[in-house]
Amino acid sequence: MDLDALIVGAGVVGLACARTLATAGRAVVVLEQETRIGQGVSSRNSEVIHAGLHYAPGSLKARLCVAGRRALYDYMPERGVAHARCGKLVVATREDEIGALEALLARGTENGVEGLRMLSGEEAQALEPEIVCVAAIHSPESGILEAHGLMLALEGEIADAGGAIALGAPFESAAREGEGWRVRVGGDAPTTLAARTLIIAAGLDAQACARSIEGFPAARIPPLHYGKGNYFVLSGAAPFQMLIYPAPAPGSLGLHYKRDLGGRAHFGPDLEFVATEDYAVNEARAPLFYDFARRFWPALKDGALSPDYAGIRPKLHGPGEPQGDFHILGPQTHGLEGLIALFGIESPGLTCSLAIGAHVAAMLEDGA
Ligand SMILES: Cc1cc2nc3c(=O)[nH]c(=O)nc-3n(C[C@H](O)[C@H](O)[C@H](O)COP(=O)(O)OP(=O)(O)OC[C@H]3O[C@@H](n4cnc5c(N)ncnc54)[C@H](O)[C@@H]3O)c2cc1C
Repeated sequence: MDLDALIVGAGVVGLACARTLATAGRAVVVLEQETRIGQGVSSRNSEVIHAGLHYAPGSLKARLCVAGRRALYDYMPERGVAHARCGKLVVATREDEIGALEALLARGTENGVEGLRMLSGEEAQALEPEIVCVAAIHSPESGILEAHGLMLALEGEIADAGGAIALGAPFESAAREGEGWRVRVGGDAPTTLAARTLIIAAGLDAQACARSIEGFPAARIPPLHYGKGNYFVLSGAAPFQMLIYPAPAPGSLGLHYKRDLGGRAHFGPDLEFVATEDYAVNEARAPLFYDFARRFWPALKDGALSPDYAGIRPKLHGPGEPQGDFHILGPQTHGLEGLIALFGIESPGLTCSLAIGAHVAAMLEDGA
């Protein structure tokens, strides 16, 4: 068998898996249904490098976020990927939110996030003069990056290591054959490939791909919910340098403020469960954005926000259900040798990407 690994999906996660394996000397091919890399979830997100405060201690999200963030800060300067370690404030705008900040600080510390500090409202204002809050957590390791730059860097490394990315090459189905997998590929040049291992990193299509794999137990395919996130952009100068997040609250929309690498200010993403892959910004949500932003920035003027873009999270939990972890499933779960399937790689998947690559490679080393 010529191929060690066939990876479905040239988003940031599939590319990171391919890069880890290719640079370790494995023969890899990435299958991508689109004619360019990174056109899926990886092209419609906040491009935030998460420090790792928010995730349940011990979860894959927490561990891979902290490891992935550290790996990114080593990797990006070496490979010329545009980024900024701009820091973040998580703000309490009312006294009754301070308890939630304290719990978040404790969680972040348990997750191993470096440099976290509780600030008074005045201390936060010394860092960001326009902010109005009663307390804040300062997270100096949070940052922003250019996601396409990261994917191009990964693509370059895969090519340098002798790997290939097949574009316009949709994965159609797979079945075990001999020591590995026989994979049917569609598109303009349909073909069949054989590989020792198969990795499904297909974002919103991961469940559909799993259903096309012979013998994949239906009970192990998690439900998929589309969690749309709308963004609005601010006209005029960006008021803050740092990322600004609200104190966590039940039912929080997950919105935040970001000044991008070009200096423009964005608000989003909210969370709207939708039935179809529809990327039109829901303009009716604008009042929520004004209310959200004015809690910590009362100076926001009417009419200053315009629809920006939208992304869709591959969520495994629906409205009102507790949010869970990534599902990175190997043979112990689905019973199929040489197969790793990734489901629900929502935020912080971009931050985690390099660590997911290492995690998947370690699963293969352990006999997946
Ligand atoms: C609104 C929003 C905000 C986010 N913000 C952040 C953030 O600030 N920070 C952060 O760390 N993370 C963030 N994320 C999460 C992050 O964007 C994702 O976790 C990450 O991009 C997932 O990458 P992926 O490679 O798994 O998926 P994708 O980028 O979707 O890649 C999957 C690829 O598989 C391809 N594919 C699908 N089916 C097939 C097939 N049959 N054959 C061949 N190819 C196929 C698709 O075309 C696609 O290119 C956010 C996500 C959203 C939606």
